Amino acid sequence: MALLRNNNTLPLFETSKASLRHRLLMSIALWIPRYERCSCKECEVFSGIFGNAFWHQNLSHTMHHWLNKQSTRILPMAAFPHLRKICNSGFIVDSKGNNSYLIHPKRMALSTLYISGGRSLLVTPETSFLANKYMKLHQPGFRHERVVVDGFGHSDLLIGEESSKEVFPHIISHIRLAEEGKNVVMISKGKSCSKAALEWAADPYQGYGGCETCGRTVCAMELIYHFLYL
Ligand SMILES: [Zn+2]
Ligand SMILES: [Zn+2]
Repeated sequence: MALLRNNNTLPLFETSKASLRHRLLMSIALWIPRYERCSCKECEVFSGIFGNAFWHQNLSHTMHHWLNKQSTRILPMAAFPHLRKICNSGFIVDSKGNNSYLIHPKRMALSTLYISGGRSLLVTPETSFLANKYMKLHQPGFRHERVVVDGFGHSDLLIGEESSKEVFPHIISHIRLAEEGKNVVMISKGKSCSKAALEWAADPYQGYGGCETCGRTVCAMELIYHFLYL
């Protein structure tokens, strides 16, 4: 477990001092299949570990440079055992693997907005579909909305060059409407909504083919972990 100990970090800079195990992990990460390849070594290591988090064409050169050369200098490894438990469970669990969050929907008495990328990568739009459905069911008195923005993947929704025009207006309008007290978008109560409830039960994104790359990355990382533990 040496690599995944608490407070252990993976230096992403090529010039950084890295242990043999870290260098090994980085070179294995470079082999892992992904949607987009990049000429930047740090970006390649990062997307080998997580999968591509954004579509490159949506980021400016300045943002890409800042992200890889200034922002993410080191990668904390302590979260990975927890992330693995979440991935294996298929929903959020605590660090011991217990379902201790989703059983308390009453604690989440607030409005929510879900924004998914329509050009799916890393996570599928299904995640926001299910979260929105969960909140509409358990907190029907609050405003819950979901938007799928065409052409975006995952983190490019927030750091993309066009985010201020394509994405942020959805956030601003949601905050405004929630503050104005226009909370209820669709009330999931009573007989009249049973048809709507049925429609929500169907997954509108069946054609996306699931989270194949994500699954592949997790499987590949599992193999790496086993290899490094031995
Ligand atoms: Zn890149
Ligand atoms: Zn993310």
